[in-house]
Amino acid sequence: MKVLVINCGSSSLKYQLIDSETEEALASGLCERIGIDGRLVHKPIAKGLDKITIEAEMKTHETAIQMVLAALTDKEHGVIEHLDEIKAVGHRVVHGGEKFASSVVITDEVVKAIEACNELAPLHNPANLIGIHACQAALPGVPMVAVFDTAFHQTMPKKAYMYGLPLSYYEKYKIRRYGFHGTSHSFVSKELAKAAGLDLKQSKMIVCHLGNGSSISAVLNGESVDTSMGFTPLAGVLMGTRSGDIDPAIMEYIMKKENKDIDGMMKLLNKDSGVYGLSGDLSSDFRDLDSASKEGNEAAANAVQVFAYQVAKYVGAYAAALNGVDAIAFTAGVGENDGKVRGLILEHLTYLGITVDAEANQVRGEKKMISTADSKVKVYVIPTNEELAIARETVALV
Ligand code: ADP
Repeated sequence: MKVLVINCGSSSLKYQLIDSETEEALASGLCERIGIDGRLVHKPIAKGLDKITIEAEMKTHETAIQMVLAALTDKEHGVIEHLDEIKAVGHRVVHGGEKFASSVVITDEVVKAIEACNELAPLHNPANLIGIHACQAALPGVPMVAVFDTAFHQTMPKKAYMYGLPLSYYEKYKIRRYGFHGTSHSFVSKELAKAAGLDLKQSKMIVCHLGNGSSISAVLNGESVDTSMGFTPLAGVLMGTRSGDIDPAIMEYIMKKENKDIDGMMKLLNKDSGVYGLSGDLSSDFRDLDSASKEGNEAAANAVQVFAYQVAKYVGAYAAALNGVDAIAFTAGVGENDGKVRGLILEHLTYLGITVDAEANQVRGEKKMISTADSKVKVYVIPTNEELAIARETVALV
């Protein structure tokens, strides 16, 4: 079955057409600058052709979807002949609140329930809904599924998701830990169990999704029981530009000292912090930080050390939450590619009985065990594939 996977942002739209039998992507691409001017980058993977870029006005997401569908069926660059070959569409939706603990077929009621979660993710959910409406208009009658970033973490117990705030704020506003990157944590934990020869239903795993945004999760018997992101994706370890956990009172202190309002403060925490801010505004990209460190830039080297230390502390905390750990996975841009950062993290974890295979740890972007054969805890690099995970969920439901 051919499944179109859509990840719609406020001015962008990423897509992949996936053949669910082979689990191969037939085409992928990205519409950018929707509502500004418009650019479509389309890669016809199945034809082995290079990507093409089409600059064309995209006033709305509807126009963007029409262009994607035209590219997919194009004589030269298309990968299907007719639109009716697309049997289902899977949509990434960021926030499912407490309503969605799993993926769902999209109905009018589901759309209303997603709208009700808009308040919890005002930058993302409305854009996801625009993508759903645009696809419904362009592909009438094709079943569509919503796959939520938060759903996998809905199995967290109350002791893990409640904050030390007055109970009434949870009751009135649903302020609690939700967690994000759930599609990735779910996919990677299943792949990790397979790779490490574990019975998913009787396993203790920790998944480190380390990218531009980073989160760590504790997965017990296949279910998320804790995760480092919280009410929003700002929480947890420091990230590319996000601060992660800080003493909340720092906000008031900086706001007074620097005469900032709350919007200025939130921008500081979301865009100007993390390894970018800590490296003295050098870069949020770990490749740049590594080159700068090699040239003797102390702030860059320190930013990477702080990152590795914070990740290791979460792994330690989750080994406690799980009361043991069988296997650990590294995934996403940094986790899959940066052996140096993985090594720095694992240096803190020898007490768990982990021994690293230094040569295997050089791996980039492919599934590989990076611990030695006699390591007490198995450590793997597991590439994430959120689009494939969304396609699998979609096929399972339609
Ligand atoms: P996002 O959270 O945006 O999905 P990714 O998972 O794609 O992010 O991760 C992007 C980050 O991965 C980059 O900012 C960079 O720091 C890191 N990265 C990508 N490739 C490499 C590499 N070869 N070596 C080290 N870091 C890398």
